[in-house]
Amino acid sequence: MYGITSKDVIRMTFEVGYGTEIWGNSYCLDMAYGYNIGALTITTGRLEIEEELEIIREYKPNIFADVSSRVFFLTNQLKKLCELKELGIKKFLIGAEPTPNSMRKNIEESWGADVFIGYGITEIGLLMAGECEIKQGMHLSELNFLTEIVDPETGEQLEDGEIGEIIYTTYNREGMPLVRYNSHDMGRIIPGLCDCGLPLKRIEIKGRTDDLIPIGAGDNLFIKMFDEALFKIPEISEYQVIFDKKDNKDLITIVAESTVLTDLISNKIINAVMKMPEIKNGMDKSKTVAKPVVKLVKLNTFDRNSIKRRRFIDNRNLYD
Ligand SMILES: [Zn+2]
Repeated sequence: MYGITSKDVIRMTFEVGYGTEIWGNSYCLDMAYGYNIGALTITTGRLEIEEELEIIREYKPNIFADVSSRVFFLTNQLKKLCELKELGIKKFLIGAEPTPNSMRKNIEESWGADVFIGYGITEIGLLMAGECEIKQGMHLSELNFLTEIVDPETGEQLEDGEIGEIIYTTYNREGMPLVRYNSHDMGRIIPGLCDCGLPLKRIEIKGRTDDLIPIGAGDNLFIKMFDEALFKIPEISEYQVIFDKKDNKDLITIVAESTVLTDLISNKIINAVMKMPEIKNGMDKSKTVAKPVVKLVKLNTFDRNSIKRRRFIDNRNLYD
């Protein structure tokens, strides 16, 4: 996958400290690219920015693999220390979490590189699906498992193109076969064949069922929408969203790490969030959503290891 050959040098920096991530990401990629293909893999956990730059300069990797938010963070930090295009990284293999288009564009333009997004779940494997050079959806590894998209409420199978819950059945798993395993990921099969000619179906992941946050009068927000809205603003490197109830309305507070702490940035964030149809509806029509509030904080305020799991905090039930 991704046209990797024995001439490639691949830098991998997946987080160390969680059993699943060591065995899942770095180990699998080491086996796939290093052991099987013969590429040089340079694997460590997360390093400080300056150390990372030293490693890149010394080993000159042309491919870099990690989760999207880490690559985005590195991009924005390394940019301050050097000209990224001169470092020679031409491909980023990222995934393991939703990657908004704005984030991908920022990484690609900053490095003059291609970003390829992959997808996997702990229970089945790391490279269950991956993008081809056309980058319009991820081709499913259909020889290894069956993929079904179903209505989350009724369990009924949906047509290609329709968004639903993704269910997997493994074909060749010996130790832990899975039969109609509900991943709780939401997504759709992209109708039609890909221009690259590969006959494998393509999937688009929209988020997780537990990524849906009820807002206002019966609307649901996909939390990925905040990624799309906020990472478009170049000054923002990380954020947290807190949902509260105030005067019977949903109050959304966005705490954002920004390179500059000015009202201009706060207003950009408020405008971006107020454009989300569910929030706009709640504010203008049903009057169930209050105007969002923004608090800007300095870079590196959030702990990078825990922010992914604590990006959305819903305090509203506490008031019941
Ligand atoms: Zn393709």
